[in-house]
Amino acid sequence: MGKYDYDLITIGAGSGGVRASRLAGKYGAKVAVIEESRYGGTCVMRGCVPKKLLVMGAHFAQHFEDAVGFGWTVQGASHDWGAMIAAKNKELDRLDGIYQRLLRDSHVTTVDGRGVVADPHTVEVNGQRMTAEKILVAVGGWPMIPDFPGKEHVITSNEALDLPQRPKRVVIIGGGYIAVEFAGIFNALGSEVTLIIRSGQVLRGFDQDVRSTLAEELEKTGIKIRRDCRIRSVEKHGAEYSVMFDLGDECMADCVLVATGRTPNTASLGLKEAGVKLNAKGAVTVDAQNRSSVESIFAVGDVTDRINLTPVAINEGRMFAETFFNKNPMTMDYTNIASAVFSQPPVSVVGLSEEEARKSHKVRLFISRFRPMKHTLSGREERTMMKLVVDKATDKVLGCHMVGEDAPEIIQGLAVALKCGATKAQFDATVGIHPTAAEEFVTMRDPVPDKEPEA
Ligand code: NDP
Repeated sequence: MGKYDYDLITIGAGSGGVRASRLAGKYGAKVAVIEESRYGGTCVMRGCVPKKLLVMGAHFAQHFEDAVGFGWTVQGASHDWGAMIAAKNKELDRLDGIYQRLLRDSHVTTVDGRGVVADPHTVEVNGQRMTAEKILVAVGGWPMIPDFPGKEHVITSNEALDLPQRPKRVVIIGGGYIAVEFAGIFNALGSEVTLIIRSGQVLRGFDQDVRSTLAEELEKTGIKIRRDCRIRSVEKHGAEYSVMFDLGDECMADCVLVATGRTPNTASLGLKEAGVKLNAKGAVTVDAQNRSSVESIFAVGDVTDRINLTPVAINEGRMFAETFFNKNPMTMDYTNIASAVFSQPPVSVVGLSEEEARKSHKVRLFISRFRPMKHTLSGREERTMMKLVVDKATDKVLGCHMVGEDAPEIIQGLAVALKCGATKAQFDATVGIHPTAAEEFVTMRDPVPDKEPEA
């Protein structure tokens, strides 16, 4: 027996923790993973996976409507929320089992319980102490609910994925990823949805054209957006709630969903006491090799609050394992990471927004707005928006943005092009696939007139 019980103890069996542990195990390290909830973490159990299944389920409503324009008669279609939730839960049970099996197959010991760091090499779980040469903190984040009277009456995305019934009237506080995604799910299934955003527009941080296009499309589908509006309080009246706003008015709802961001799960984890530096949001501060201020303690994923996306956590976990358990030092490249918002219609982007690009480049912009072919017959008033942000000096494409059906599937391919440093001339030299929406990205010839004065 070496100096420690394990080479690596990972706290948290989410995307980042599982990938790091499995790889370390595969490379011969003695590894234990501690998990207090279900295996798979936020993405698999409370985020991306169940959310996307509900998005898919909700989207059938549009398919049924659109089918009429193509000659279909769709009679008696109705939706059973409970059946969808049960089917989704069955799939999550399957995934939980798969994650546990993958860990076992990599010879990783799994420990059910809450792990707390006791010192730089010790973790306490279920009253037992376990020691390791390295500790990896991969505990993710948790929904943050701002303080207001009646906050105990609201739900977060965690509960929204498991509601016993679909609420008829939903008020959603926030205008970020989670807010617009759930707005789409409930609205498509027939709920009355009101988004309450404290600023002037949804999706802060995204390109202005993406933000305004998505808001327009959401409003076309019937989602109400109240801008520059803050919640004052929530009161429960029997089975319904009244939501009071800062301007003194109120609205009634059957469910109030708060989606105002997430905070790293570091409370009472023993990190501060062990000397680990946390930032103002409570995230573990790490270097490029995912090492915290304590030599033997590392962190990956949302708990570090860098780019909070599953594939990023997976890559950070992989790089940690390669570096420390396979003598193959790797660091993560955080540029040009594509992302998607599974709103209806979805959004997907890679690279810089126009606003970000303008900070350091002179840009040429290419924008295309069109009615997708399907809707020429379906009659749906949905429009697609595509935008390219190009560096005037080098012709390099700095950003690709899309709001419209299949946007995430399309942008994934363009992310490879941006990783390779593709220029607009190379986009132009690429022959499109006809008839698709995607071909528009290689056929946009004329830049939009530049609003910015020449320096
Ligand atoms: P976001 O950070 O995306 O959005 C938070 C929203 O809440 C913003 O609209 C913000 O407004 C608003 N807000 C923040 N604080 C308050 C407050 N005190 N009162 C009122 N409104 C407030 O958070 P989400 O919860 O939507 O998502 C968390 C993270 O999860 C995302 O950042 C993303 O990393 C990840 N995620 C990724 C998904 C994907 O890849 N598809 C899907 C879901 C989540 P303002 O704009 O004014 O700041």
